Amino acid sequence: MGAATAIQASYFIAAALFIFGLKRMSSPVTARSGIVWAGVGMVVATLITFLTPGMSNYGLMTVAIAIGGIAAWVTGRRVAMTNMPQMIALYNGMGGGAAAAIAAVELFAGNVHGPSVLILGVLGGIIGAVSFSGSLIAFGKLQGLIKRSFRFRGQNIVNLLILTGTLVAGAVVVLYAPGPVTLLFALALVLGVTMTLPIGGADMPVVISLYNALTGLAVAFEGFVLNNAAMIIAGTVVGSAGTLLTQLMAKAMNRSLANVLFSGFGETAAAGATGPAGTLKAIETADAAVMLGFSEKVIVVPGYGMAVAQAQHKVWELCQALIARGVTVKFAIHPVAGRMPGHMNVLLAEAGVPYDLIYDEAEINSEFETADVALIIGANDVVNPVARTDKSSPIYGMPILNADKAKNVIVIKRGQGAGFSGIENALFYLDHARMLYGDGQAKAAELVQAVKAL
Ligand code: NAP
Repeated sequence: MGAATAIQASYFIAAALFIFGLKRMSSPVTARSGIVWAGVGMVVATLITFLTPGMSNYGLMTVAIAIGGIAAWVTGRRVAMTNMPQMIALYNGMGGGAAAAIAAVELFAGNVHGPSVLILGVLGGIIGAVSFSGSLIAFGKLQGLIKRSFRFRGQNIVNLLILTGTLVAGAVVVLYAPGPVTLLFALALVLGVTMTLPIGGADMPVVISLYNALTGLAVAFEGFVLNNAAMIIAGTVVGSAGTLLTQLMAKAMNRSLANVLFSGFGETAAAGATGPAGTLKAIETADAAVMLGFSEKVIVVPGYGMAVAQAQHKVWELCQALIARGVTVKFAIHPVAGRMPGHMNVLLAEAGVPYDLIYDEAEINSEFETADVALIIGANDVVNPVARTDKSSPIYGMPILNADKAKNVIVIKRGQGAGFSGIENALFYLDHARMLYGDGQAKAAELVQAVKAL
């Protein structure tokens, strides 16, 4: 077998590892091993690239891999689950930037030949550069470095003009290569910034997922430029996974992608909205423990606040204490609870909650009516009943968990803080709802003691 055949065969193995790894990531039972499989695929693809005929600069390649590898290792170990979206934004931006850098180097060097490869190279470069600068802005917003959304009249027209300029520059590069390559990339980088700046921090997870899909596409296009099968396959896999994730998030929030990109969600929500009728009624830990401990069935609804409080271990301890008393306990997970799909599943898996106690919205929604208590921990928007009724609400039409239909509702949260959408929750004001104020972890720990003492 020649070297070239061995390289292609290794890329094929790497591609299979990416695809099966991704498949395994779709279930919490196999997700960890899925990440390992895909990681092994990446190691195979990277090592085999060193053997490609004509490859030089081994020193530089090794230094680049060492810098990237160490930075990823350190940040990956340190990052808190709640900061995962911004880390993904940063890593994703690097992927887009790498694709754009490949395009720039190859175009400057005049290495891209043939009209179709030239078009793919230029398109990949544009998409990669937009994804790079856009992801950095998304990172800045999620990290709280950029606090405002820069919105002004006619911004969509300005963006359209920059996009047109970028495409024209791209066409000139294709026709008269190398042409205005610097201008092309400068415009594409500016476009990523101006496209992302007006979008509210609240919509960033969807935007990151979109950029993730774009990065995949850019990498796949540059794979044609470098004639590298592993890049084409890995890019396609990332591109389609990102597209599916973007669709899933938009659908679970009942928003169109255009609405995410071109409207200021969450920024106007608080204004104009009149508060729900009724009053908030607090409950003491001891009383909440009695309600829970003497229930037949409790459905736990975790949300973003559980992640912030890192309350998952204490919540599971509480559930075990309830199960020991003969209470049936189930977890209800909304597809966009937390700040990324699967956020709650990962936390509950980390705490050791058996998978057969975890139900998604469609499976459990009809069961709330038979639950004695819906115990809501740091969830807000995903249980807000106005999504069903109030057409003027920004979350109208978003499928929600029917926690309000339970016989009693106990809500653990710190105070009057709104959720991600910035609106008040009518559920908290219902007659059968009680507020157990405090940090999620502290309150869950107190409940464990109180239930055990019953
Ligand atoms: P949420 O609506 O953001 O509400 C979280 C609640 O947690 C807040 O009301 C807050 O109230 C409470 N909280 C914060 N820190 C806490 C702590 N230490 N202890 C106890 N409670 C705490 O959360 P959600 O119900 O999970 O809804 C997720 C939202 O994110 C949805 O609007 C969804 O559309 C959006 N989103 C999700 C994704 C995704 O993929 N998951 C992507 C994009 C957008 P206090 O301040 O009063 O404590």
